[in-house]
Amino acid sequence: MKMKMFWNDIELFFYDWYLLHIKKPKCFICGRISTLQNYDGSWICDYHAEVMNEMGLERESREEQLND
Ligand SMILES: [Zn+2]
Repeated sequence: MKMKMFWNDIELFFYDWYLLHIKKPKCFICGRISTLQNYDGSWICDYHAEVMNEMGLERESREEQLND
């Protein structure tokens, strides 16, 4: 159990490192290097992920209205 968690941590560490130093995806809002990816494939920084998360429900209901 402990060993598995250890390897998961290593894997996450290297994935973050790869993103921050090799891939360098940019937040589609502010352009900062980000480690979070949206469902549509765009990248987003921690800060804007939080902002979008809070706005998420509101935006979804607005899109439904537009489709009518
Ligand atoms: Zn951002």
